[in-house]
Amino acid sequence: MLKDILVYQQKDAELVKLDRDLENSQQKKEVNKLVEQVKQAQNKVYSLENTASQLIVEFEQVKQLFENQSKKVENTKKLDLNGQTEAELREAEVLIKKEIGALLALSKEIKSLSNKITQTRKEYDKTTAYGMECKTKYKTSLDAFKNFSAKKNSEREKIANELEDLKKRIDPAVMQKYLQMRDDHKFPILVPLVNQSCAICATPLANARLDMLKKEGMVECENCHRIIYTQDK
Ligand SMILES: [Zn+2]
Repeated sequence: MLKDILVYQQKDAELVKLDRDLENSQQKKEVNKLVEQVKQAQNKVYSLENTASQLIVEFEQVKQLFENQSKKVENTKKLDLNGQTEAELREAEVLIKKEIGALLALSKEIKSLSNKITQTRKEYDKTTAYGMECKTKYKTSLDAFKNFSAKKNSEREKIANELEDLKKRIDPAVMQKYLQMRDDHKFPILVPLVNQSCAICATPLANARLDMLKKEGMVECENCHRIIYTQDK
């Protein structure tokens, strides 16, 4: 009986290892990393789209201001200066300089916005290409992970079948206790007696429990509730 449950646990340990391998596999890490990279690229593309549309609105506004200012300069230039006093001519000169200055400032602003738009566009193309590259890599790595887990799952199934067979030879009460702890992710569940204590949590067994252990071959640890066993009954 004790031998059967120990064999069961040994086989079950292979299952635990398989699950851990799947959980910690390089393939899975790679898939997760690429999911993150695709997400980041997508977020950046959205943000660049927003920036681009804001810049275009701004560009249109400044272009409108530039056109208005150009008309203003044209009109000022057309003013008839004949018969104006020297002071009036100087005033007109100051005015036109001021208007041209404003026009140049707007033209600079247009140039700067246009550069920003080109830059954003470049960044957008670059990020989109990077996102596509990540998506392709993601698909490849997902396939690799699927292959890996299919292989592990078939190994898993084989062990699970062997465990089903072993289960038939084990006391249902012990089995139930074992499976309960297994669900709580406490592994190993059966542990040897070491220095008259639980091998995992090192809680010493009281004499009464030591006697029970000698009689039954197994006893529950009062602290971690694992099954302590001994082979020298
Ligand atoms: Zn213990």
